Amino acid sequence: MPSPDQSSEIAERYAAVRDRVHTGARAAGRDPAEIRVLVATKTQDAAAVRAVVAAGATLIGENRVQELIAKAPDLEDLVPSGVEVHMIGHLQRNKVNQVLATAGTVETVDSLALARALSDRCARAGRVLDVMVQVNVSGEPSKSGVLPDDAAHLACDVAALDGVRLVGFMTIGANSRDTALVRAGFARLRRVRDDVLASGAPGTGSATELSMGMSGDLELAVAEGATIVRVGTAVFGARPT
Ligand SMILES: *Cc1c(COP(=O)(O)O)cnc(C)c1O
Repeated sequence: MPSPDQSSEIAERYAAVRDRVHTGARAAGRDPAEIRVLVATKTQDAAAVRAVVAAGATLIGENRVQELIAKAPDLEDLVPSGVEVHMIGHLQRNKVNQVLATAGTVETVDSLALARALSDRCARAGRVLDVMVQVNVSGEPSKSGVLPDDAAHLACDVAALDGVRLVGFMTIGANSRDTALVRAGFARLRRVRDDVLASGAPGTGSATELSMGMSGDLELAVAEGATIVRVGTAVFGARPT
């Protein structure tokens, strides 16, 4: 439970992130309104989530299915007031049902098998789930996601499925101090998105989102066209390790 002090600190930090996005957008000649801030709430309790929503956040991301389930009652409460919940962590096919109960978007589709599992469940339930294809732009083996060369193909296959709507692409930037390298990865994701949009393949017309950039590299991502930046530590402080 955050104290009133902690709540105001969260509000200040969230506002500071908005300022960074604003400044980065202006520097890149972009309209700041094109860029949403997703708050990654892993390890944060429901009260901290409420504090950041009170500060104006409308987009919440959870990484782990267990945590999503534990926080589901609180998160579901927030949805009617306009809060969107995204799954941003690796998702196994056998956990799909648990995620669908709470998340409105799954950003981490990295295989056709996972996309089919989501598609089957949603089509049967008569709903449409927004999904993004996660791309591993850095090729670091520790990261999930399809490799850039395979991303457009997977995206077109996903876009053709019932029960899911391809809304864009997500990546975690390279873990490097070399800003040119990190930025090149974000540019790569943008080219994947542009290629898929230009393909005209069925269902790809809505694939406009670029979810990229985190607390340490969001300016680079905004410069390369991010439409969603995902921040955790910049809002909540360092996570306990
Ligand atoms: C934790 C996390 C973030 C936020 O990372 P910070 O460095 O804390 O801003 C963004 N995206 C994903 C997928 C995450 O797991």
